[in-house]
Amino acid sequence: MKLRGGYNVPLQGRPAGRVETLPEPEVLHLPLSSRRFAFSQLAAEEGQRVLPGQVLARDPDNHAVPLLAPRAGTVRLDAVVDHITLEDVEKVPEEPFEPDEQDVHAPQAADSAGLRRYKLVELGAWQFLEDAFTGDLPDPFGTPGAVLVSTVHMEPYVARGDVQLHKRLAGFTRGLHHLQSLLEYQPVYLVLPDIRSEFGERVREALRGYAWLRPAIVPRRYGLDNYEVLARHIELERTPERPVWALDVAGLLAVDRALTASLPSTVRIIALGGPAVKDPVHAKAMAGYPLDRLLAGRLPEGPARVIDGGVLTGRSMPEAQKGLGAECDGLTVLPEHTSREFLGFMRPGLDRQSYSRCFLSLLRSPFAERFSSALRGERRPCIGCGACEQVCPAAIMPHLIHKWLYQNALEEAEQSGLHLCVRCGLCSYVCPSKIELRGQFVEAQHLSRAEHEPAEVTP
Ligand code: SF4
Ligand code: SF4
Repeated sequence: MKLRGGYNVPLQGRPAGRVETLPEPEVLHLPLSSRRFAFSQLAAEEGQRVLPGQVLARDPDNHAVPLLAPRAGTVRLDAVVDHITLEDVEKVPEEPFEPDEQDVHAPQAADSAGLRRYKLVELGAWQFLEDAFTGDLPDPFGTPGAVLVSTVHMEPYVARGDVQLHKRLAGFTRGLHHLQSLLEYQPVYLVLPDIRSEFGERVREALRGYAWLRPAIVPRRYGLDNYEVLARHIELERTPERPVWALDVAGLLAVDRALTASLPSTVRIIALGGPAVKDPVHAKAMAGYPLDRLLAGRLPEGPARVIDGGVLTGRSMPEAQKGLGAECDGLTVLPEHTSREFLGFMRPGLDRQSYSRCFLSLLRSPFAERFSSALRGERRPCIGCGACEQVCPAAIMPHLIHKWLYQNALEEAEQSGLHLCVRCGLCSYVCPSKIELRGQFVEAQHLSRAEHEPAEVTP
């Protein structure tokens, strides 16, 4: 497949490259579930004093990956439903954001690749890896067909790859060496954006001579940074026996942290953005950081919707969630639209940037759109404009799949490439008829998977 499609969504409130250090918290509320994990097996007791990096719970269905304590504190199991709360959290001096500037490479550890993989699991670094095709956590003791390392994050309001990499180039290149040491001979692909910049040149310079590393240069358009799209572009096969592993800059730095310094990864760089956020920034935040404290002073006067993740693929933050999730890489805040707009249904393009040529916004010079949760009029039938097909990075025809699903024809939707959809949400964003295509496809993919799963044999 050729890389095609993609679109840079012009939205207001994207955080700049600055990384803010948050004040140390007194209490942490660690949610017992995240996007992929359910930490249902408790490993800490009520009232127990835990140390930083100590295991609080595990996900028994995902290779027992741990939920780690980011700081020393006293465990409270029932303070907040579905969370582990840490009280009397010990403040620690802030680690410098730039732990290394000089390119000093640690000697290869003498232990086996298996032991090092185990160490990655126990120190929370393995959780950054994904199967590129399924999004699942790879088996720590499995053998991949190839590994993708991506430096490109393009979804609005998630932490950018270049921000994560800034001043941490030595850790990044060390991480690449560590990664290679876990493999036998499988290729490692490094995904870089196709732009010339001083920083990009430094990255390329640092990696010159890494003969085992295969660069994959991609256009900087949202959707083309998706692991599955990249794997297909490089013509990697999807096989359960030889999966393609993928990780991003944060993941590679976590690998370096675990294998160079034996330190756990409990702090991430997240983006705090969205049109309703005051002063959008990147911030270093640990899992469990109280959301009310994180968002204090940043929310607008009126009602706002907080989304866990980016605006195109995130989900509304449940009201019951009190702390930052273990996998969160960004929070998006949209102004909640509460009033009806006069003739709103007629104005899909006047004060918003429209992808479609039929709306007047294209007559204005390009501008960043102040996006809100307003739907502006009801959904309409597909008008066959083809905008969704133009932007789709998976090179499928979303309008055709929508047509089949609208008729409950799941089999035909599958034959039209439903399984190839990477759930990027661009089709929903550009659709002038406001059809929630992504949501429809995600639901249909679940249904399709359930139908094709072998039926359980009852004794
Ligand atoms: S069909 Fe899927 S991959 Fe294509 S644009 Fe829509 S959500 Fe993205
Ligand atoms: S963008 Fe919307 S209206 Fe246009 S073809 Fe796709 S589904 Fe139909």
